Amino acid sequence: AVEVHDVHKWYGAQQVLRGVRLTVRPGEVTVVVGPSGSGKSTLLRVINHLEKPEAGHVSLNGELIGVRRQGEHLRELSERAILTQRSRIGFVFQNFNLFPHLTVLDNVAAAPVAVGRLSRPGARELARDLLARVGLADKVLAYPRQLSGGQQQRVAIARALALRPGVILFDEPTSALDPELVGEVLAVIKDLAHSGTTLVIVTHEIGFAREIADRVVFMDDGRIVEQGTPAEVLDHPRQERTRDFLSKVL
Ligand code: ATP
Ligand code: MG
Repeated sequence: AVEVHDVHKWYGAQQVLRGVRLTVRPGEVTVVVGPSGSGKSTLLRVINHLEKPEAGHVSLNGELIGVRRQGEHLRELSERAILTQRSRIGFVFQNFNLFPHLTVLDNVAAAPVAVGRLSRPGARELARDLLARVGLADKVLAYPRQLSGGQQQRVAIARALALRPGVILFDEPTSALDPELVGEVLAVIKDLAHSGTTLVIVTHEIGFAREIADRVVFMDDGRIVEQGTPAEVLDHPRQERTRDFLSKVL
């Protein structure tokens, strides 16, 4: 499970997370929705320790992320130890973030080689399997610039899978795509959800959230205002702020 324990995060004088508590159970799909600036991306970045919280902490399967206990305090882990932990937490970004100078195959194969987990031939074999799974078997030798946005995002998903992470975090994976390319990426994410991969997805696609989520989390102003099943949060919201948000986006 991913556990977020009472996380607080400031940027300078601005507090952007105000005591966030969240549990994501293995195999569950959690969808995070909320207005722009409510702290959704920051929450994802805290989970994989791209951002360090000023208070609170995150654990994955019981292991603290980015820090260790020392008496009363939490001490930052070494950069190397943090990278090892991060290899168990996949991250798919809005803008794909592929390596432009590597083929699709090597974009996917690079990380397992870099962390010393697979030989180059072994990693390429795995990459071929993963690219076939996301429907890109015929694109392995292409470069990212030769692909559509939807294809690039599917490569990014295959790349995240290559490290066999315990959880994959998605930050608005379809919001940079032309509308006609959204469906192919959502279909791949849906396939992952059905195969029991643990997912945390920030998205504005409320229909998709309703279809895929085990749990929907509504954030506003650095807090989780409401969470529950899609029926509870999206169809019968209890909080005024949730109703207000949904009336604007639905
Ligand atoms: P959106 O839906 O627009 O992506 P969000 O919910 O993901 O919004 P965040 O990106 O987490 O929101 O930002 C939360 C707040 O923190 C915003 O007010 C933002 O301006 C601020 N913020 C985010 N990143 C930084 C940063 N690196 N430095 C300073 N302020 C930041
Ligand atoms: Mg964001």
